[in-house]
Amino acid sequence: MRKTVIAGNWKMNMTPSATKAFITELVPMVKGMDKCDIVLCVPYVDIATAVEAAKGSNIHVGAENVHFAPSGAYTGEISADMLKEIGTEYVVIGHSERRQYFGETDETVNLRTKAALAAGLKVILCLGEVKEQRLSGITDEVVAMQTKLDLAGVSAEELKNVIIAYEPVWAIGTGLTATPEQADETCGVIRKTVAALYGDKAAQDITIQYGGSMNDGNAKELLAKENVDGGLIGGASLKTEKFTVIVKAAN
Ligand code: PEP
Repeated sequence: MRKTVIAGNWKMNMTPSATKAFITELVPMVKGMDKCDIVLCVPYVDIATAVEAAKGSNIHVGAENVHFAPSGAYTGEISADMLKEIGTEYVVIGHSERRQYFGETDETVNLRTKAALAAGLKVILCLGEVKEQRLSGITDEVVAMQTKLDLAGVSAEELKNVIIAYEPVWAIGTGLTATPEQADETCGVIRKTVAALYGDKAAQDITIQYGGSMNDGNAKELLAKENVDGGLIGGASLKTEKFTVIVKAAN
């Protein structure tokens, strides 16, 4: 049985002191909600504080990006080993904001994914179509190609530490949400692509999240869909009450 994972992506929000206050408040709110894994992916400078505040709870901590080189002359970058050493468990890779604003390509997403997995991090691999691609009817081809390119060279064993987040770019931070049917259908296409690459068992076991304006009002319907195994949540992960409602829906 595959795991349901509810992950928050804080983006460039929250200072370390706000992180401590947020997690201290959230811990009792989600206590005992163990039918899904709960992850908060936070800015680099908040990670150590988040790990400390979440200690002993059911909340796991992730980063929002990682560099693909182990070390070297990459000013301003952070390596997978650096993340591991401070207690990071997960890392978001290939978020559409990285692809859109920071020149991320499927090639660099693939390099980051392999580096993170080699260091023992769990990867939340984001992919999804832009509006024009959906309107042109090529969503299935786009997500299938991204899945293949982003996972190139990832072994079947390593795939066990990969979550795929299907995030239609037109739905991220826009208030527009894919319908539960659209989310289910496209997560299903990604699952079929994983089956073609790694076999049916791997495809049945992999967690595929939906992300894109998931919130306390629509989470239940989206999460009820067979191919939707959780959510990657931006805006609604910044409020403990809203995030807790989503975690509850997954339980
Ligand atoms: C995200 O950042 O991955 C995301 C889905 O954002 P939002 O929920 O705000 O659309």
